[in-house]
Amino acid sequence: MYTEEELLLKTPAELVDLGICPTCFNREHGGSLYGDISDKLIFADSELECFFVGNPRAEGHACIFSVEHYHDMSEAPDSLNERIVRLSAELMRAIREIYGCERVYLCTMCDGPNNHYHVQLIPRYSYETRGSKNFVKPRGEYVCDIEKLEAIRKRIREYAEG
Ligand SMILES: [Zn+2]
Repeated sequence: MYTEEELLLKTPAELVDLGICPTCFNREHGGSLYGDISDKLIFADSELECFFVGNPRAEGHACIFSVEHYHDMSEAPDSLNERIVRLSAELMRAIREIYGCERVYLCTMCDGPNNHYHVQLIPRYSYETRGSKNFVKPRGEYVCDIEKLEAIRKRIREYAEG
């Protein structure tokens, strides 16, 4: 067995191999793996959190995670699935309007022995090719656009609290 200190030095892939969910580990250890996401966070409450990804496949690439650990949608309660689908739809509309992309693609990964339920929203811009390759576009570095971030936050907050 590893000590807490040793586990804190592991990569996400190493934690998965040890049967530990990196997402839950990160949350329980104050962002030890993925760092401070305050410049990416869109919305969070007791059930879900929603933020821009640190290594986006397009500008505006966002994801929605359940707070509780479920492997995927099939294990989560329908009330939570419903919230995540509805929030995805509103976030798609917001990303299209605020980022000016043509469409937003949705996928949910479920691989690995310890996947943590989340959906990804990947924008496609008018100058990009259509098709399923949009799900595997090369990843880039997140650059915070504070005006767009604030606009998305306001929109999602109003939706979630409305
Ligand atoms: Zn988890």
